[in-house]
Amino acid sequence: RAAAARSDFDGRGVLADGTEVPLYANVGTAEDARTAAAAGAQGVGLLRTEFCFLGRGEEPSVEEQVEQYTAIFAAFEEKKVVVRTLDAGADKPLPFLTDTAEPNPALGVRGYRTDRSVPGVLARQLEAIARADEATAAEVWVMAPMISAAEEARDFAAMAATAGLRVPGVMVETPSAAVTADQILRHVEFVSLGTNDLTQYTMAADRMLGSLAELNNPWQPAVLRMVRLTVEGARRAEAEGAGRRNVGVCGEAAADPALAVVLVGLGVHTLSMSPRALSPVAAVLRSVDLATARSLAELAVEQATAAEAAAAVRAELPVLA
Ligand code: PEP
Ligand code: MG
Repeated sequence: RAAAARSDFDGRGVLADGTEVPLYANVGTAEDARTAAAAGAQGVGLLRTEFCFLGRGEEPSVEEQVEQYTAIFAAFEEKKVVVRTLDAGADKPLPFLTDTAEPNPALGVRGYRTDRSVPGVLARQLEAIARADEATAAEVWVMAPMISAAEEARDFAAMAATAGLRVPGVMVETPSAAVTADQILRHVEFVSLGTNDLTQYTMAADRMLGSLAELNNPWQPAVLRMVRLTVEGARRAEAEGAGRRNVGVCGEAAADPALAVVLVGLGVHTLSMSPRALSPVAAVLRSVDLATARSLAELAVEQATAAEAAAAVRAELPVLA
């Protein structure tokens, strides 16, 4: 069945009424990028750059980074590639950037925060991304992970501009970023919801602990409400004249077909997922129109538990039966 579904996938995400929902892939390496392109991804919604450098004791040179990014961008000529700057720390330690002796690594100096403790690494990475952007025809967007305040988004946008990168954005992975999305989006052009971390921080439940899996579930109504707040923030920024603001999702939530419908119903514009999820997600999106997605989103948000939210939505999606 999975194979049949895959062969149906024509590379487009579209609802039954023709509403386009671009579907992108999450990748970590050039090999991943080629696999994603072959699977029909419309672009890359999350390039996890730290996977180019895992296990490395030292910062890679700018030249080496340019080579790695160029190989990835080359798989997506004329397509969008959203590059996430190094997200070191917590579940992804990098010896040249993070201190593994922190008492609470998930709440520590991780992601964008490392630019303060080890200045220079981010600026050099942005320079390498910009050079790879110039060397290829991919449409490169760049975003920072683990943002918790609008001033961080402002500073990141300034750094991206200095490097010559034209489309800056940030990830929404913390409740503070979700509730201040309007302020954040005055400084950057897009946000991408990292629902893995957003769930961890909203529910105050370590994503590495299997024993907390029930809390660590993106169907939790609290997490869905964070997504809704982010979309409302984007609309507010647009109403204030900020220009078009894209809200994407690049966490695992986007790979759950029923949850993907809910995210679209909440107002998310684009979804990024592991390549093997593209076809099943596209199939379910094709089965609903936008009005239905919106009412299923409302249904999910109003449930008391994650299990009830998932069950209520799945029961309304005959294509999943
Ligand atoms: C996320 O947190 O949802 C995300 C996409 O980033 P990562 O899983 O790499 O932390
Ligand atoms: Mg994350």
